[in-house]
Amino acid sequence: MDTAEACCHDSVSAIATGYAGGWMGRKRCGRCGKTYPAAADYFYIRHKPTGRLDSMCRSCRRAINADWKRKVIRERREALAVALGRPLKSSSADDTDRRTLAGFTRYMMRNPHYFRYVFKGEPTPENIGDAFRKYVKTNRDSASGCV
Ligand SMILES: [Zn+2]
Repeated sequence: MDTAEACCHDSVSAIATGYAGGWMGRKRCGRCGKTYPAAADYFYIRHKPTGRLDSMCRSCRRAINADWKRKVIRERREALAVALGRPLKSSSADDTDRRTLAGFTRYMMRNPHYFRYVFKGEPTPENIGDAFRKYVKTNRDSASGCV
C-alpha cells in the first residue's frame, strides 16, 4: 500500500487529488459542450490511480450508458429476428410463450444448459430452429389435431 512517505510517486497522487479537488480548473464536456468544475462531482473518474476524469460530464455519460443499453437490447432483438427469419412481434406474450418460435428461441437462449440437456446440442439459432420444429411436430402429433 502507498504510504505517506514522500517520493516521486507522490506527484501521481497529487494529480489525483488535484483533479478531484478541482485545481485543474474547469473542464468542458466532450458531448454537451457545457463546462463544469473538473471534479469527480461532475465527471466520472475514468482512471482511479491518476484520477483522470471522463471526457464527458456525468449526465452525458449516464445518457450514453442508457443509449448503449437500449442499443444492446435492440441488437439482441434484431439478432433474434434474423435467427427467426422474420421480424419480431412486440407483444410480450410472443416473448415468453414457448409455443411460438420467438418465445422458444428466447427461452433457449436464456437457458442454454436446458437446451443442451434436452436437445443434446449447442443452442445456436439453427439448432434452436430445428429443435423448435421437432418440438412443434411432436406436440402436434400427440395433440391429435385439436388446437
Ligand atoms: Zn455533458
